Amino acid sequence: MQGLMMNQPLSVIELLRFAAEIHGSAEIVSVRTEGDLHRETYTQAFARTAQLAHGLRALGVGPGDRVATLAWNGHRHFELYYAISGMGAVCHTINPRLSAEQMVYIITHAEDRVLCLDLTFVPLIEALAEQLPDNLTFVLMTDRAHMPDTPLDLLCYEELLDGQPESYDWPVLPEDTAMGLCYTSGTTGNPKGALFSHRSTVLHALFMSVTLPRSLHEGARILPVVPMFHVNSWGLPYGAPLVGASLIMPGPKLDGASLFDLMESEQVTASWGVPTVWLGLREEIAKRDAVPSKLDQLAIGGSAAPRSMIEFYETRGVDVCHAWGMTEMSPIGTQGQLPVPMQSLPFDARMAAKSKQGRMFGVDLKIVDEDGARLPHDGEAIGELFVRGNGIVSGYFNNPEATGAAIDAEGWFGTGDVASIDKNGFLYIQDRAKDLIKSGGEWISSIDLENVAMAHPGVANCAVIAIPHQKWDERPLLIAVPAGEARPSLEDIHAVMEGHFARWQFPDGLELVDELPLTATGKVSKLTLRQRFADYRWADAG
Ligand code: AMP
Repeated sequence: MQGLMMNQPLSVIELLRFAAEIHGSAEIVSVRTEGDLHRETYTQAFARTAQLAHGLRALGVGPGDRVATLAWNGHRHFELYYAISGMGAVCHTINPRLSAEQMVYIITHAEDRVLCLDLTFVPLIEALAEQLPDNLTFVLMTDRAHMPDTPLDLLCYEELLDGQPESYDWPVLPEDTAMGLCYTSGTTGNPKGALFSHRSTVLHALFMSVTLPRSLHEGARILPVVPMFHVNSWGLPYGAPLVGASLIMPGPKLDGASLFDLMESEQVTASWGVPTVWLGLREEIAKRDAVPSKLDQLAIGGSAAPRSMIEFYETRGVDVCHAWGMTEMSPIGTQGQLPVPMQSLPFDARMAAKSKQGRMFGVDLKIVDEDGARLPHDGEAIGELFVRGNGIVSGYFNNPEATGAAIDAEGWFGTGDVASIDKNGFLYIQDRAKDLIKSGGEWISSIDLENVAMAHPGVANCAVIAIPHQKWDERPLLIAVPAGEARPSLEDIHAVMEGHFARWQFPDGLELVDELPLTATGKVSKLTLRQRFADYRWADAG
């Protein structure tokens, strides 16, 4: 029997309309590329979003058209998110840290019609202009006074809005209509496009708001360090207006000192980002011997959060929520806020639980062996992780080959991660399948080794990669950035690993480097490290 309920299509513009009406005084504070600090309320943002939609329509943007952005976190980027999607077009966020070749590939593959860019990226686009499609219209996200002298034919963002009506007749769209496009640059091959729908994005915003109330609640002031050009800033531009939280947009300055100052001056209560960012803030906190006064929660994801980092913040009164996800998952897949009974566990047990990646409503998980058979959720079995849910891609944009490789016979998406799931349902990511080290037929988790090595006070950051070995197939090499003047030896590292691992799992080599290469999304690039150490030879392997 069918239920007798209305079926109103889910639409992202409704999130902002609601915020404008109900949370009208919550604000978006932006450190702008022009150098100033800009403030606008959700009510003002909704009005400007309508003006922008009129401006884009005047440029000929219509339903289904792809409008690209190349921009930092800021109010104009936020307005673009809603105006583009709200009018039925698709907001294609481009990661400026991609290589020139990848950028040209995705702009061409997405068939972008308009590209809106921040001032910072004018030189980048000047250099690429020759290789970009002729019919691409450029909009510079600034006002007339800041328009630079450039050979590019640039329209001015603020002029697009000037004089336009502050309301727009937002179309009612089928909820499966595409609204956002984000390419994920796998380690090899061309980037692949995740094409989000209004439905997937609204549901993801609802799931994340319900599951992460400590960050997302009315009156909260959230600083998304995670960029809007990387999977929609983990959904914060949708979740924050929904609950009435203010967004503190950091612009391009993401070093520890700038973040600390902004957190203090804007009374930030929560901040989300990848572990490398929290290393920078950690240094600043240690230097000043103080924590930003209102900071209550950090969400850490994108790569495994080392336990020593979780402990650093937790012992200073900042709650850490360890989250896992992927571009293909909108992106949050799980989050590790502890259920009430676990919150009173002794410190050690709590930190162990917080090192896992947790769980979230709306995402089903399964782990399978090499033959695709399901493995138990007993905390012991380790297998390849597959996911299913309303915020997860059913395929890649215009890429049947990559789609075929990613979706299994039951319709689940293969993450490429290897994990266990414990009896509480908590996910524990062991590694990317391709980063695991196979030694003498046994697997060693590079993430586990890194986590424990990071506990050594002489290690500021590190990564473990597999190096081929004549006898054992592969053996782990630890590549570490020393902290300050420290020069830890391999024996020192082995000493902290004692008791955590069997001796055969210890790294066989240690290389000290000044810094680790990062990917476009701020993770340590193991691909680059593998290339850099391709000629590395074990002393006993000839
Ligand atoms: P991206 O699509 O760029 O967000 O990358 C997704 C990948 O990042 C996942 O498949 C994981 O390998 C990795 N990842 C994200 N969050 C975590 C986490 N908390 N712990 C370990 N790996 C993570």
